[in-house]
Amino acid sequence: MKSKAPKPAPLPVSTPWNVIRVPFLKVNGMALFPFILIREGRPSARLINHERIHHRQQIELLIIPFYLWYLLEYLLNRLRGQDHYTAYVNIRFEREAYRHDADLDYLKKRKFWAFLDQ
Ligand SMILES: [Zn+2]
Repeated sequence: MKSKAPKPAPLPVSTPWNVIRVPFLKVNGMALFPFILIREGRPSARLINHERIHHRQQIELLIIPFYLWYLLEYLLNRLRGQDHYTAYVNIRFEREAYRHDADLDYLKKRKFWAFLDQ
């Protein structure tokens, strides 16, 4: 007799306390310090890592300046003629987060203000 298929593996880590599900969110995740907003339940470790990279950036810029810098870079990218998505992924904070979010140990070895090198 064939054995039953194994149950899906549990998530490698439990969902952190600061992760809040917002079903009407227009993006998969958003770092709103100190919270991580997610659209769907069971976020991937990569998505959580991406948002935690943004938290580190936010802490290093004392929160509010991060959001101003983020918005300014987006607007400058749009003024350069980039479409919404291109302007978004070219924000230095996003370049760092997307470049390193698959490396779940990235924050352990990341340099201070590493977003400047992106
Ligand atoms: Zn991001």
